[in-house]
Order: sequence, then C-alpha cells, then structure tokens
Amino acid sequence: MRVTVLGCSGSGPGPTSPASGYLVRAGDAQLTLDLGNGTFGALQRHADPWALSAVVFSHLHPDHCSDFASLAVHRRYHPRPAYDPVGHPLPVFAPSEAPSRFVAAYATSAAERAETYLADIFAFHRLADGGCVEVGDVTVRAGAVDHPCEAYALRVEHDGRSLVYSGDTGPCAGLVETARGADVLLCEATWPHVTEWWDEPPVGIHLSGRQAGEHAAAAGVGRLLITHVPAWFDAQELLAEAKEAFGGPVELVAPDATYDV
Ligand SMILES: [Zn+2]
Ligand SMILES: [Zn+2]
Repeated sequence: MRVTVLGCSGSGPGPTSPASGYLVRAGDAQLTLDLGNGTFGALQRHADPWALSAVVFSHLHPDHCSDFASLAVHRRYHPRPAYDPVGHPLPVFAPSEAPSRFVAAYATSAAERAETYLADIFAFHRLADGGCVEVGDVTVRAGAVDHPCEAYALRVEHDGRSLVYSGDTGPCAGLVETARGADVLLCEATWPHVTEWWDEPPVGIHLSGRQAGEHAAAAGVGRLLITHVPAWFDAQELLAEAKEAFGGPVELVAPDATYDV
C-alpha cells in the first residue's frame, strides 16, 4: 500500500501546497482520502481520475472537500470520458450530509440547487462510527473523532498493512482506538502546543504537534507522518514537538511525496 500527498496545507491551501488530500493505492484499488482546495490538479499528476475506485471524506470542511466540485465537472463534462459515468456512479463514502453539501458547493443559486442532481454519476454512502466499507480488496473503517462537525478518522487496511488518517480532530480516544497498532498514522498537527494565545491548546478542534505525538504513542503505531500544518505556523516547531512525544519515526509529509505503508 502506498499513499501520495496531493496536498497537506492545514485549514486551506498555502503557497507551497494545496489543502488536504491523499491518494491511496493498494492492490487494484485507488482511492482518495479528502479532496481539499487544489488537490484535483495534484491528483491528475499522479492518477487518472477515471481510474479511481472510490473517494472518501473524513469530514465536510472546505479544506477537505471543496475539489469534489471539480471532480463532478470532470465526470460530467469531460469530452472523452474513459467510460460513461451515468450508470457507472463513482462510490463516495462521506459524512451523512455530503449529498446536499456537494450540491450546494456545485450549484450557483437556489434555483440551480433545486434541480442539480449528482447521484447519476456518484453513489453516496454514509460513513458511520465503527462502520467498515470495502473498496476492492481494501477495507476502510471509520472512527468518530472530536471536531466541530461530523468527522472520522479513517483506517485503510490491505494485505496485512494499515494506514490511519486522522482527518481533523481534537484530542480524543476515538483517534487512539482507530489507530491502534497501525503501521502508519497520518496525523494532523495544526498548531503549536504553547503559543502567545494559550498555555493549553483549545479542545475539540485540532491537535498540537505534541498531541499528535502523544496519540501516536498511545496507539502504538509504527510510524507517524505529520500533516495539516497551516502556512501561518512553523512546521519544524510542530515536528519537533511530535518527535519529543513519540519515540518512533516521525516526519513531516510533503506535497507530491509518496510513502510506503
Ligand atoms: Zn482541516
Ligand atoms: Zn476541519
């Protein structure tokens, strides 16, 4: 199993990276985990969008899903489609409000929203806490995490290997449980642990670099990949925090880099 970073800039695109999105390839399956701002361009450098087996969304904040609209345009209007997308809908695994959320992002007015229909080219499936979905010979399990909206960590398993993506989350047991014993934890770290604004980070939103390392240690993962650092914070500072809290190998992910799981 391999994961390619389409974008890793936290909370929105930055000067050197799109927002959050990852391409996972395992066996015959190719799936994306989130498609934030700018990731659809990056996706086309690494894969043919027509070859995707499924798209999966951790949650529906714009920095994790806004390029779904670009994927919809690609499927609807490509002049030379690899196959007829109508009647061959692409599976979408996402929080419950994804269909209405994606219609709202796609259509420009109330009148257009009322008649926009995406379910001919996409097959929407709800994620649920503890639920499992199969994409080819890949299993994706969702574990609820602590964010201001319905949000999941995603555990991707194939051929005895496991990758867990935190999505966005504050400190929570759900992330530790979902990541338990994983080979790789791709974990958000969005702010420093101590800043000029706080001595303890806010709860229920994001992780500090230290908290990412603590969750990786508590889950006993093999390797920690830090992602979702916003352009306005120093990624090296968050990396140093994570290294101090997690005894195993830690690195910052980079856009367009591919990691073996
Ligand atoms: Zn985010
Ligand atoms: Zn978010």
